[in-house]
Amino acid sequence: MTRSIINTKQKFWKNTLSFIFCYLFTSTFANAHDASSTYLANASILVTNGKTKVLFDPFFHKNFGQYQLVPEQTLKAVFAGLPPFDGIDAIIISHAHGDHFAADDVVRYLMRYPATKLIAPQQAINQVNALPEAKKIAKQLYPIELKFQQPPSSMTVDSLFVEGVRIPHAGWPQRADVENIVFRVTLKDTDKAPITVMHMGDADPDDDHYLPFKEHWQQQQTDTAFPPYWFFFSSEGNYILDELINAKQHTGVHVPTVVPDKLKATGKDYFSVSGDTREIKVSTIE
Ligand SMILES: [Zn+2]
Ligand SMILES: [Zn+2]
Repeated sequence: MTRSIINTKQKFWKNTLSFIFCYLFTSTFANAHDASSTYLANASILVTNGKTKVLFDPFFHKNFGQYQLVPEQTLKAVFAGLPPFDGIDAIIISHAHGDHFAADDVVRYLMRYPATKLIAPQQAINQVNALPEAKKIAKQLYPIELKFQQPPSSMTVDSLFVEGVRIPHAGWPQRADVENIVFRVTLKDTDKAPITVMHMGDADPDDDHYLPFKEHWQQQQTDTAFPPYWFFFSSEGNYILDELINAKQHTGVHVPTVVPDKLKATGKDYFSVSGDTREIKVSTIE
């Protein structure tokens, strides 16, 4: 009799504990599976859709005295592969400028995570290839080489469908040599609807650059685009976002450490605090 009471008590605690454990586990699990974007700094964003994850412009050393660097703790978490930075499918680089890209850290990361791919303009790949360790990660490299006004390119990399258009760097026609790529990336996941995001790097907000690709933008709606914040300051920039690129939501990035009052006054959504997140609402078929 006594034994059966003990057994019942033990069973009760066993069941209660396993219930608590399951609850904690599944609630964390469910969060981890939401489609979302997380801000690291400058133009650096983690985008996740279930188990599919990409990191845009995560490693860089320069802030030019006004932009945010990725906080040391966050960088450590990325390199340690701590959630949500575990299981990164690809690192995607918009362009090879010092506030978006550092070849040494990218190579260090790719060596540590052999399953992660690097999708980047040829100019960034050239910097990677100039490093002595490059041979060890050669199979992880997916270069995009696009000339000005060349038709968009596309590739499938594991669960990602990646499309690139070369759009001139801000300040056009200066810095015309920079391969700045506007990426439209669809993240597929076996358990979830696909999501599509757009990272624009340091794109120039002149509609002449976008009009020739109108058909390309129309072919696929983007759930969230991440334009540099200066797009919000001109009617042309807003016209590109609202009418040309076919994106449902925009969250501005590349915001200076001291957020300009002019930006606050626009009422637009933007990232300025490292660690902030946004839910990405999935397209419904119309
Ligand atoms: Zn740049
Ligand atoms: Zn920049």
